[in-house]
Amino acid sequence: MNSSQPSADLFDVVIAGCGPTGAMLAAELRLHDVRVLVVEKDTEPVSFARIVGLHIRSIELMAMRGLLDRILPHGRQRPAAGLFAAIPKPAPEGLDTAHAYLLGIPQPVIVHLLEDHATRLGAQIRRGRALAGFEQDDEGVTVTLSGGEQLRARYLVGCDGARSTVRKLLGVAFPGEPARNETLMGEMKVGVPQEEIAARVVKTHQPFWLKPSGEGMYSVVVPAAGVTDRSEPPTLDDFRTGLRAIAGTDFGVHSPRWLSRFGDATRLADRYRVGRVLLAGDAAHIHPPIGGQGLNLGVQDAVNLGWKLAAQIRGWAPETLLDTYHSERHPVAEAVLDNTRAQTELLSPDPGPQAVRRLLTELMDIAEVNRHLIEKITALDIRYDFGEGPDLLGRRIPDIPLKTGRLYDHLHQARPLVLDTTTHLTVDGWSDRVDLIPDPTAPLTTPALLLRPDGHIAWIGDHQQSLNTHLTRWFGNPTH
Ligand SMILES: Cc1cc2nc3c(=O)[nH]c(=O)nc-3n(C[C@H](O)[C@H](O)[C@H](O)COP(=O)(O)OP(=O)(O)OC[C@H]3O[C@@H](n4cnc5c(N)ncnc54)[C@H](O)[C@@H]3O)c2cc1C
Repeated sequence: MNSSQPSADLFDVVIAGCGPTGAMLAAELRLHDVRVLVVEKDTEPVSFARIVGLHIRSIELMAMRGLLDRILPHGRQRPAAGLFAAIPKPAPEGLDTAHAYLLGIPQPVIVHLLEDHATRLGAQIRRGRALAGFEQDDEGVTVTLSGGEQLRARYLVGCDGARSTVRKLLGVAFPGEPARNETLMGEMKVGVPQEEIAARVVKTHQPFWLKPSGEGMYSVVVPAAGVTDRSEPPTLDDFRTGLRAIAGTDFGVHSPRWLSRFGDATRLADRYRVGRVLLAGDAAHIHPPIGGQGLNLGVQDAVNLGWKLAAQIRGWAPETLLDTYHSERHPVAEAVLDNTRAQTELLSPDPGPQAVRRLLTELMDIAEVNRHLIEKITALDIRYDFGEGPDLLGRRIPDIPLKTGRLYDHLHQARPLVLDTTTHLTVDGWSDRVDLIPDPTAPLTTPALLLRPDGHIAWIGDHQQSLNTHLTRWFGNPTH
């Protein structure tokens, strides 16, 4: 540390941004007793509802951390159907999960619940403080906030959204396609009766709706006149122009509660880590909201990164563990970007894409095709590359029943776990960081497996020596 750096306020991790990704990461780190500070530029949490829902894998993660019971009453469960390019097909049968549904829940509610979870676990969250700069050296990162205050941390994570300051200051490239279209979204009152709206709202291929959202307000989504740099929120006049262009009237809209816009840019950061600085969530990847995947992807990044960064800070991480965050999550985001590109094409009104859409609609009557696409959107299809091995290796495990409750109940503290039906294995040497459940009743197709804190299967087998090798690979050297 050089002499200009402050001695006070030393944190293990500073997170820039308290959206869903930053809040989830803060909580994951606190489960491992990491001293974490989240700095958030906005003084108040976001108030506008931009999310359609939590997907199956995110719902599983909430169950895995004991959060689901708190979240479920705030959302509406619906079948996992119609997710791919909004092609109306029933939910596939036989999804291998205890949570085969989507949870419709507004983004502000999710952020509030995750922020509350992180705070209860001991994370500090300072609102109204924007990260303005940082410098990293061999021992840590000095973070400068917009008022000039400096903080010192061992690691910095940019969870600061699509326009990430952290990513820009890091100089990480963000290649992809710029926005071609922009959509306005907001909540406001209308000056005409409901019957007139129903008569004027015509079916178009473009995103457009105007529907009651409660308390006399209407939720409005309408294509924008052009593409802007999106640094400024839209005005009510922008909505009036858009509505007149698509419906021939502006419906007398007035008194907006909030106005926003989003584009269909598709970009992926080249690197998720540069030294002691990492990127997660929208800071690392952006894509159109078709299929409602962005928040889910960010929360899943956080769960992948949390325990690895904690292990690095606690000192037991194997040398390459932190780099597996990029090698595992970058390809997952790449695949999500690709499926949103495909869905965007399928929503085009042009005759070619419409013909492909009709063909795919037919193909989705084949159960396997429907399941394949829904597993893709809901992130059940992820298989990390852990090397040669059976198909289960690298995949997530569903929440199975055990002698002692359900499996996910044993993952609330984000500790790795050996599930052993042979009952002759031990985790001696790692018991400070790895749990063991000997349970001959566990419905497994393998004798034993090693689960990472994110619920992915890191080893399958029944030999102690082989288990020890994999415990060392993932969770470091034994303590004796
Ligand atoms: C219309 C629409 C519908 C969507 N629907 C869905 C859906 O159904 N499902 C889904 O999964 N996703 C959906 N998304 C995507 C989802 O909203 C985003 O992917 C998600 O918000 C990303 O979370 P994040 O925490 O990474 O980033 P953000 O939510 O953008 O949070 C970043 C935070 O960082 C803060 N910040 C920025 N700069 C700084 C700084 N310099 N210092 C400190 N703080 C800073 C910001 O104020 C913000 O609070 C939708 C998006 C849109 C536009």
